Amino acid sequence: MKLPPFEYACPTALSEAVALLAAHDGDAKLIAGGQSLVPMLAFRLAAPAMLVDLRKVPDLRKIDIAASGVTLGAMVRWCDILGDARLRTAHPLLVAAVSHVAHYQIRNRGTIGGSIAHADPAAEMPGIVLACDAEMAVVGKAGARVIKAADFFIGPLTTALASDEIIVEIRFPAWPAQRRWGFQEFARRRGDFAMAAAAVWYDQDGGGKAKDAHVGIIGVGDRPQRLPSVEAVLNGLAVDEATIGRAEAAASAAVDPQSDIHASAEYRRALAGTMVERALRDAVSAAPVSTRLGEE
Ligand SMILES: Cc1cc2nc3c(=O)[nH]c(=O)nc-3n(C[C@H](O)[C@H](O)[C@H](O)COP(=O)(O)OP(=O)(O)OC[C@H]3O[C@@H](n4cnc5c(N)ncnc54)[C@H](O)[C@@H]3O)c2cc1C
Repeated sequence: MKLPPFEYACPTALSEAVALLAAHDGDAKLIAGGQSLVPMLAFRLAAPAMLVDLRKVPDLRKIDIAASGVTLGAMVRWCDILGDARLRTAHPLLVAAVSHVAHYQIRNRGTIGGSIAHADPAAEMPGIVLACDAEMAVVGKAGARVIKAADFFIGPLTTALASDEIIVEIRFPAWPAQRRWGFQEFARRRGDFAMAAAAVWYDQDGGGKAKDAHVGIIGVGDRPQRLPSVEAVLNGLAVDEATIGRAEAAASAAVDPQSDIHASAEYRRALAGTMVERALRDAVSAAPVSTRLGEE
């Protein structure tokens, strides 16, 4: 289907991009990789008067790894994340999740900023930034601010971003080497959006008991969710068969999915528990990221 008509601008400075968005007062949209926006235009789910292309804005494609954590520019593409060997130790959960995103061609264009701004409830990255306590640094006509992932996703395809705000970078806290983690996803075909996925991690105290557990679930609600009741099951216990079983049951009880064309609510509820169970088994196994990639 042909796209609706629009004006096009390709600014070379962030301030210029913000000014263009502000001048159009909600009737201009950013374009990053175009992998979500172009289908939205084709289906007339969006029809902005102007597209503001971010590709010439400098410094948005940087990957910075420091003792304080990992910072990804908003225009970092999926292929950049998978191609950067440093990230496999600096943030293995991130890398494992990205290996489930879409297909080779889409991973060559799609960006992390575009995915987070698009806020598809079945997309991996909104769930990962939430589960990992990441923050989004954004700039708009009122200036710069930082939005915690917990405050960012408001509903399906809806975020806390104002219409003139641009995500500049995504900041992940440091990832200790000994952290236990797992990412599991079930999709109908390799590269499809998740029917359900779970991201889990925890640290361990001196006695090998879990602490600071984080459990995120993707694809079973109108936005990604943390599951505090599952985290409470894990904290203070050794992650053994009994604990994993209780966590699985708690995850199924905590979600409230709707039935849709892909699956019944009942099926998705069971699947959420299964994803958490499998992700915890991976966390216990402590296998390196190279053996946990869902790549084509
Ligand atoms: C066939 C197919 C399969 C796919 N499968 C998956 C999948 O399994 N998992 C998955 O997660 N994704 C999947 N995707 C989506 C893909 O990952 C997209 O690349 C991603 O969701 C959006 O990134 P983008 O750079 O293409 O953004 P665009 O399409 O360019 O933009 C998306 C939205 O974000 C806004 N935006 C872009 N950049 C910024 C920014 N810096 N600040 C503020 N707003 C911004 C745009 O205005 C637009 O509203 C799939 C896409 C296709 C076509």
